[in-house]
Amino acid sequence: MGFEDESRSYHAADPPGKIEIATTKPTNTQRDLSLAYSPGVAGPCRGINENPDDAYRYTAKGNLVGVISDGSAVLGLGDIGAQASKPVMEGKGVLFKRFADIDVFDVELDLDDPDAFAAAVSAMEPTFGGINIEDIAAPECFRIEETLREEMSIPVFHDDQHGTAIITGAALLNAAEIAGKDVADLEVVFSGAGAAATATARFFASLGVDPDNVTMSDIDGIITEERAAEGDPHPYVAEFASEEGGELADAMEGADVFVGLSVGGIVSPEMVRSMASDPVIFAMANPDPEIDYEAAKTAREDTVIMATGRSDYPNQVNNVLCFPFIFRGALDVRATEINEEMKVACAEALADLAKQDAPDAVRKAYSDETLRFGPEYILPKPLDSRVLFSVASAVAQAAISSGVAREEIALDEYRERLEA
Ligand code: NAP
Ligand code: MG
Repeated sequence: MGFEDESRSYHAADPPGKIEIATTKPTNTQRDLSLAYSPGVAGPCRGINENPDDAYRYTAKGNLVGVISDGSAVLGLGDIGAQASKPVMEGKGVLFKRFADIDVFDVELDLDDPDAFAAAVSAMEPTFGGINIEDIAAPECFRIEETLREEMSIPVFHDDQHGTAIITGAALLNAAEIAGKDVADLEVVFSGAGAAATATARFFASLGVDPDNVTMSDIDGIITEERAAEGDPHPYVAEFASEEGGELADAMEGADVFVGLSVGGIVSPEMVRSMASDPVIFAMANPDPEIDYEAAKTAREDTVIMATGRSDYPNQVNNVLCFPFIFRGALDVRATEINEEMKVACAEALADLAKQDAPDAVRKAYSDETLRFGPEYILPKPLDSRVLFSVASAVAQAAISSGVAREEIALDEYRERLEA
């Protein structure tokens, strides 16, 4: 049986799907039920009506994230529509629960119009403590997210953009350190200008990369100022447009960092050889990277610091390293948004963890890898239990100090509670 058939059986086993609702209060007696529902439930309803914040006190809102998609850019499957995206959204819920004990309602909306989609999501604010929009095609995803962030006062996060950006950012900080280069001096080339590449380029700027040192290239080659002036490919990469045009190969000559968030097999060993010393290659197209791991590593004599989206090579950029934990921290201080400070704190916490020796349990789970800070270990592993308390507490702290937390918590106690 192939892997996909095996997964069909896994999903079809009774009961169908992967999630269910569980109750958290006694429901054994008539009295219990009258407390849970009518007439007793009028009490908490009136409480919330008088003080809307009591929704966090009397309902599951504060630990509930909406994973919401239109099914327009699902994994590697493309525009398969809302209904067919449901196994993915349920799966995202599984990961939220497994890694950060966050509950999820997955919501698949059959809507093509970005404005209608944004209006629908925005109207769901009373239900959720946070919103993770998922697998929505670029460039529509940019405007949807922008609208939602403006209209909603709970965290809104598009994981395909920002989760990818944060983990790649963490990898960049450590790769620059290993290569002995200053982030502000890095020449960075992007292949791709879609959801992930756009957000990653913008986040790199938040980490200190100079936008003037960034070149973006897509299927039509380097994005020039001329193209940007025509809105090609979309306005969200205009600040990275270059004076001179050319191919990806031209852009890579002398560059320190290559970030691939496009398609597999478009980078040759020749192109890797043309880069600056100790080059950084993040080839993250799935399932096949822009260049194979071995081909990049063996292209030259000096150190190639390589990351991919794959679990069978070192340095996997795996989004589960970020979204459960950034939401954990954001929810626990009732942040009104996930801002740039919180994202930077998340990336720095991840980068920092890779520099501390991994605990024995993690070493056992990944027995074939050294897990010691260096070119083969620039990111912590998702099964490293330290990620939860390190990242969530760093994010909570950043929310408090940047003024978007609605609840101040004692961070030492919080960290200990998560650690337990
Ligand atoms: P997307 O929004 O569809 O963006 C893809 C981008 O690549 C577009 O700018 C596209 O240009 C460009 N492109 C297509 N063919 C190209 C070619 N031959 N040469 C250069 N550029 C080309 O998709 P996305 O969500 O950003 O994801 C992009 C890739 O990154 C996917 O392979 C995805 O699996 C991977 N990814 C990996 C991770 C991870 O490893 N953690 C996370 C996120 C994404 P046009 O729009 O003009 O076609
Ligand atoms: Mg996704």
